[in-house]
Amino acid sequence: MNDISVCLTFDVDAESSQVRKGEDPVKISKGQFAIQRGVPRILDLLKKYNIRSTFFVCGWVAEKYPETIQNIISDGHEIAAHGYLHEELDTLEFNEETIVHEHTNQILGDLAGKIRGFRAPYWKLSKYTLTIISEMGYVFDSSLMDEDRPYIYSVPESPKNLVEFPVEWYLDDWILFEHHQQPATAVFEIWKSQFDAIQEIKDMEDSRRVYTLTCHPACIGHAYRIQMLERLIRYMKSKQATFSKIHPIAVEYLL
Ligand SMILES: [Zn+2]
Repeated sequence: MNDISVCLTFDVDAESSQVRKGEDPVKISKGQFAIQRGVPRILDLLKKYNIRSTFFVCGWVAEKYPETIQNIISDGHEIAAHGYLHEELDTLEFNEETIVHEHTNQILGDLAGKIRGFRAPYWKLSKYTLTIISEMGYVFDSSLMDEDRPYIYSVPESPKNLVEFPVEWYLDDWILFEHHQQPATAVFEIWKSQFDAIQEIKDMEDSRRVYTLTCHPACIGHAYRIQMLERLIRYMKSKQATFSKIHPIAVEYLL
């Protein structure tokens, strides 16, 4: 068995996008499940297995629910940025987008200290996004889909680099559970299969065997789904996986 690192990541959107779009109280309440039940369940699970994770948080969510974010921080997890109100960044002008990133960075930084990374809401970047966040001092991004292992991303027209932790729709709970209504057994099989493949595949250096999973507290936090995630964690531990926040791995890539 090859060494493999697992980054369990959680996007704390709560009801931000529903509020921004002016949606109805039921849709808003679905997002609020993240705060009421999802995050507490995730924190309990991670604590049980002594795992530290990265939570991508919207600035608006941190303003509205500072205690929830404080609970995440107190358990030793990493806070990274995820827009202010879950904006579609490709619809914003450069100046508008800069304000979104700087405002969010200020809010999250006041709670968590220096913020090191970013994930785009909806995995939609503008042509400016990665330049703006690298200029702000962020060192990693987790929004692109051009690889299945982390790599150094050279920021255009800038001497700066980011470490990219690529993502994929099949490694995202929202798509499988909410869009495709897959049963937990099917989601488990997809996620386990990719984990096995990353651990075994021959075209990957050992230092690059990193499995990045994206979950949302409003989605994975439902009882039968969090039980499935626990089963997956137990399986990965049985295969000697090491669990990590993103930033410590990004630092190794930048050495
Ligand atoms: Zn999101």
